[in-house]
Amino acid sequence: MRGDLLKKELNIFSFNDLLEHFPYRHLDKTKVTPIGKVNMQMEYVQVAGRLTDFEIIGERKSKRLVVHIKDATGTMELAWFQGIHWVEKLLAIGEEYLVFGKLSFFMGKPQLVHPELEVRTLQNAEGKSLLEPIYPTTEKLKARGLNGRSIAKLTAVLLPQIHPKDLPENLPPSVVATHQFPSRYDAYRQLHFPADQEQYEAALRRLKFEELFFAQLRMAMIKSNRHRFSKGVVFDKVGDLFNEFYHHHLPFELTGAQKRVLKEIRLDTAKGHQMNRLLQGDVGSGKTIVALLTMLLAADNGYQSCLMAPTEILAQQHFNSISNLLKEMKIEVKLLTGSTKKAQREQIHAGLQSGEVQMIVGTHALIEDTVQFKNLGLSIVDEQHRFGVAQRAELKLKNNMPPHVLVMTATPIPRTMAMTAYGDLDYSVMDELPPGRKPITTVHRYETARPAVMDFVKQEIAKGRQAYFIYPLIEESSKLDYENLMKGYEEVKAFFPEPNYYISMVHGKQKPDVKETNMMRFKKNDTQIMVSTTVIEVGVDVPNASVMVMESAERFGLSQLHQLRGRVGRGSEQSFCILLTGSKLSNDARERLKIMCATNDGFLIAEKDLELRGPGDIEGTKQSGVLNFKLASIVNDKELLELAKQTCDALLTTDPDLSSAENLLLKNYLLTKKGKTEWSRVA
Ligand code: ADP
Ligand code: MG
Repeated sequence: MRGDLLKKELNIFSFNDLLEHFPYRHLDKTKVTPIGKVNMQMEYVQVAGRLTDFEIIGERKSKRLVVHIKDATGTMELAWFQGIHWVEKLLAIGEEYLVFGKLSFFMGKPQLVHPELEVRTLQNAEGKSLLEPIYPTTEKLKARGLNGRSIAKLTAVLLPQIHPKDLPENLPPSVVATHQFPSRYDAYRQLHFPADQEQYEAALRRLKFEELFFAQLRMAMIKSNRHRFSKGVVFDKVGDLFNEFYHHHLPFELTGAQKRVLKEIRLDTAKGHQMNRLLQGDVGSGKTIVALLTMLLAADNGYQSCLMAPTEILAQQHFNSISNLLKEMKIEVKLLTGSTKKAQREQIHAGLQSGEVQMIVGTHALIEDTVQFKNLGLSIVDEQHRFGVAQRAELKLKNNMPPHVLVMTATPIPRTMAMTAYGDLDYSVMDELPPGRKPITTVHRYETARPAVMDFVKQEIAKGRQAYFIYPLIEESSKLDYENLMKGYEEVKAFFPEPNYYISMVHGKQKPDVKETNMMRFKKNDTQIMVSTTVIEVGVDVPNASVMVMESAERFGLSQLHQLRGRVGRGSEQSFCILLTGSKLSNDARERLKIMCATNDGFLIAEKDLELRGPGDIEGTKQSGVLNFKLASIVNDKELLELAKQTCDALLTTDPDLSSAENLLLKNYLLTKKGKTEWSRVA
């Protein structure tokens, strides 16, 4: 029955699960606190004292055994509500006891309810420290007598039954030796029952390393297998289209980062394996042009390419800028979205099938079954965190020979996260903004300063600039958020009345064509103000907009704030971001605002976001599961992660197949998935 509860409550089914149910801390049982020093901050205490008196008081339900013990510094009360008569038999006035329990306060006085009690003997009076594990548990289990400490009794029974052969070494001897790791067998035992703190930390370090290392190794093997065995189309020539564009129509000099990334892509697509690359670049780093040049490369080698965006607005925008850039060249580009009219859609489908259409830009509509390509060689996905992983996979299947895949994201991913969550992908970083950009000035203002903020916006508009007002709409369906948006719109309108000012509004409940019209009016500077929800977040490019007012900024996450802020600062003018909030702010919100005001660096912000929210909440990684380490954390164990990566890289450089005798161990462990030994079930 307790076994059933363990399964239900903690997912403990086998000895192995129990073994991997790690204590979250240890208690030093030899530490005795003087009763006079006990205070409210303490969670568990151990005291030692002479029993002065005890009595059973109360009737029936309120019946309890109350005991007093006394040391040189004070007196403490112990209480039992159950098993009273059994406990009573253990008590002797004048005897010295060692008492351990969770501290509570009753009428302002410290009290231990149902503590552990034993006669103090010479052995337990002084001696070596004795670290006792405390395990995560649940209320239900506690009620059945399995509290954080009593699970220790189970592990104490289990551990002696486990032998070194049950937990064989899985790291190469050289790695164990270099880092002075305890053996795997010892590490498990010592994590539960360490002799001292030092031993505990060494065991923890080893097991964390193990987790990180195998995660790295698994990813690296997938990547290296793809490089060695997957077949991919070959883009081995830079032809007329690429060259003509590069030398005659490119409107600016590429940044160093853009050049470097293009080179990485060219090398990767020329080798005959399938490219599967993640391109990370902060907002405004110029990913679109890299996408276009790669598409031209595909066309030069006789292949079609597609660029998929998460929203109609973005697809339209990409299409406009790409057709504009290519307007003097002989190459067919088309747009396909959910709102493409039937006749036109059929025409495009035919063009894709015959190969006449060489480049296509679009939304999800591109992965519909009816879309058939003649020879798709490249698919580019913009702003990948908006797409599910499944959709990405579908695009790969559009051909017999899988097309190269380039995933572009403007949400910088901290290095530690990229290493663990995307370690199987190749990975390019654009860490440089085009020249001439002025860093955005960001300030935090309280709601009370709204009139001053509005005046400031007015001044900017008077200079010919444009402004965004962004409202949180966490759930596009939330009625309250929607009402706030409408209220906000009216408020903005009151400050900026027609005919001096015109306002565009965009939100998720609008029809695509209404959204589009509003966007276009803002883009053309027919409207000076854009009131919007976060639908504007991704990729929209209006270089003349120089002010961004974020309403209820405390409600946005860090990454989102950064994304939204990236809508300004795209031209050469000084841009501003104003974070408007109410006066009541949580500590986390305060921290987010502070970071936003302090830096424009997307990678730094992503790091902070990871620290504040933890890896579980970062978009796009929830499903992946690769970040669910039992012990390690990519936030707190960065050094160990680097070490694991270096170790893994070094190993694969010398032995890519893991075929040496020393590395066979690793290979076998990887093959058994987790190297799990299934012992008998927990009874
Ligand atoms: P993002 O990486 O956010 O998608 P975009 O591709 O939209 O960025 O580029 C942002 C702006 O910077 C665009 O207006 C684009 O024309 C411009 N741009 C891109 N690369 C360069 C460059 N090398 N020099 C100058 N401007 C550039
Ligand atoms: Mg973009």
